[in-house]
Amino acid sequence: MKKQATLVIIKPDGLKKSLTGNILTRLSESKLKIIGSKIMKVSYSLAGKHYTHLKDKPFFEELVKYITGELHGDNRVMALVYWGESAIEKVRKLAGATNPEEAQPTTIRGQYGRILTSGLFENVIHASSSEDESEREIKLWFSPDEIAIDLYPAKETTVKQCKERVWK
Ligand code: UDP
Ligand code: MG
Repeated sequence: MKKQATLVIIKPDGLKKSLTGNILTRLSESKLKIIGSKIMKVSYSLAGKHYTHLKDKPFFEELVKYITGELHGDNRVMALVYWGESAIEKVRKLAGATNPEEAQPTTIRGQYGRILTSGLFENVIHASSSEDESEREIKLWFSPDEIAIDLYPAKETTVKQCKERVWK
């Protein structure tokens, strides 16, 4: 079986409800390796790129408010890359169905997700659903140096006149 990488995002509801530990424990059942992890805030630009396949859906705007933390008043997410055999399928299974009401009760979304009155699925985690998607998403959320293995081909580049925030 082929080794794969998959992106997991613990969404703002997961952090606000202090579910991070529980979710990581559930994901550790997969015996996959974590090869990248960080707490970060999500910009509108990143949210739009991440959910680009849903741009035409009526819930897109609210979805962007959800992942950027605007809905929960907590803009933190935890982004993780898991690596190993059938990683995508293993993590999707532990995550459960997109709709938390349809998700098996023992899955992460079944245990901790809910449907908002607006109809939006507040389902606690994102998990990549195919190899094409995981590669696109991991490259969007992580730089090569933030991943513990040489996952995809990378190159060195000299960045000139680029603004960067540094510690004072
Ligand atoms: N979503 C929603 N209603 C829908 C479909 C999706 O609220 O009918 C939200 C939900 O939070 C989901 C996210 O949009 O996790 C991304 O949708 P996708 O179809 O990619 O589902 P996923 O891959 O997350 O299971
Ligand atoms: Mg998806």
